Amino acid sequence: MYAKSIPRRVSSVLEKEQDLAQHQTGRNSGVIHSGIYYKPGSLRARFAVEGNHSMIEFCREHRIKHEVCGKVMVATKESDRPLLESLFQRAFDHRLPVLRLAPEQVHEIAPHVRCVGGIKVPSTGIVNYRQVSAKYDIWRILEMRKPACRSRLEKLGKRTDAKL
Ligand SMILES: Cc1cc2nc3c(=O)[nH]c(=O)nc-3n(C[C@H](O)[C@H](O)[C@H](O)COP(=O)(O)OP(=O)(O)OC[C@H]3O[C@@H](n4cnc5c(N)ncnc54)[C@H](O)[C@@H]3O)c2cc1C
Repeated sequence: MYAKSIPRRVSSVLEKEQDLAQHQTGRNSGVIHSGIYYKPGSLRARFAVEGNHSMIEFCREHRIKHEVCGKVMVATKESDRPLLESLFQRAFDHRLPVLRLAPEQVHEIAPHVRCVGGIKVPSTGIVNYRQVSAKYDIWRILEMRKPACRSRLEKLGKRTDAKL
């Protein structure tokens, strides 16, 4: 996990709410992204692809309910095909497993979808990130205190004598 390589510079984490993951993290779409959309070779792509593996590993280790259901992307008209093809190529560049789907195969997975073709990235998953946050023991890994909930950061100041 990336947390293991974070330098121990942060001495405490403040959280203004009474619990963790009350905002974006706990209200997002709950997708464990594959990383397919990002430019191959970029840090974002690397983090997303490696993060997909480590998140699934974390869920398994902590018995967090999740599903690696895969994601299907489709071209609904002929003019969408080049975009779909470029995503297929991207998956290839990321060394992500990816499958081409004929319209009948898409129909088997999603009967209401009408398309001219599709691709499937099997590594995409779904999870509830509130449950992940509840188990995410980054604090122990970093040998830090747990975040102080109900603690709002009001002001930041600069001190030259402070030791980290
Ligand atoms: C609509 C939408 C859908 C998304 N879907 C997905 C998805 O499916 N999969 C995925 O991987 N990513 C998804 N994302 C992106 C992902 O949710 C965010 O990148 C991630 O949650 C950001 O985490 P964060 O810790 O930066 O922010 P947050 O989860 O918002 O955490 C910030 C925390 O800071 C606290 N805080 C704020 N101000 C103060 C203060 N003054 N003092 C103390 N504490 C404070 C807040 O209370 C909050 O708990 C989605 C984003 C959006 C907008």
